[in-house]
Amino acid sequence: MNFHIITLFPESFDSYITESIIGRAIKNKKIKIKFYNPRDYVTGKYRKVWPDGNISKTVDERPYGGGPGMVIMAEPILRAVDKITTAIAKRKTKSKTNIVFFSPGGELFTTTTAKTFVDKFTDTIFICGRYEGIDARVVQILKAHEISIGDYVLTGGELPAMVCIDCMARQIDGVLGNFNSREEERIASSHIYTRPETLVWKGKKYSVPPVLVSGNHADIDAWREQS
Ligand code: SAH
Repeated sequence: MNFHIITLFPESFDSYITESIIGRAIKNKKIKIKFYNPRDYVTGKYRKVWPDGNISKTVDERPYGGGPGMVIMAEPILRAVDKITTAIAKRKTKSKTNIVFFSPGGELFTTTTAKTFVDKFTDTIFICGRYEGIDARVVQILKAHEISIGDYVLTGGELPAMVCIDCMARQIDGVLGNFNSREEERIASSHIYTRPETLVWKGKKYSVPPVLVSGNHADIDAWREQS
């Protein structure tokens, strides 16, 4: 899976995607992550060269109809998407691209969504909003999939993109080790224990449920299913 992330804050991904399972998945070429900053696609009057040589690139404007906050303009986002889809179209291998637009009002992202995305597409473009969000015409023009990661409002689409990458990567063969296969395809419980069998904490003893040390796998599965 190739992930293409359109974000004003690409550095915010650094520590998460270089660690542990996701870091290894990138190293092993199971997934690829590329960043595109809408600021690099600013043109015309929103790109100003100052006498001292500094260049300012404005991506946001005030909302029509009034109200607080700023709205990211459609064009820099559309140009970034164009650049991605043009590069994909030039590939010799067959590709299928999914465009995801993050919004707290979108369809809820679940493990089933992650599985479907991984099965159906070779490329996923994540459009991360900030401030008040992105001009709604982006969704209309791109016919993008509006996705929410939960019933709360965040300050940007970067965390949602990381959540989706993490969840989708787990669905790709070879990303999780054998010993570490997907919870949703076996009987798993969120009540898990490890050594010691009896934990002593501030004078009190806490033991592992006896069934887990019984060696009886049918009983263990039954316990895990109902715990
Ligand atoms: N004014 C917007 C919210 C903007 S929040 C509204 O009422 O819908 C800023 C950005 O954060 C959004 O554009 C989106 O990309 C991201 N975001 C915030 N909460 C999110 C959530 N629960 N799921 C997915 N993206 C979210």
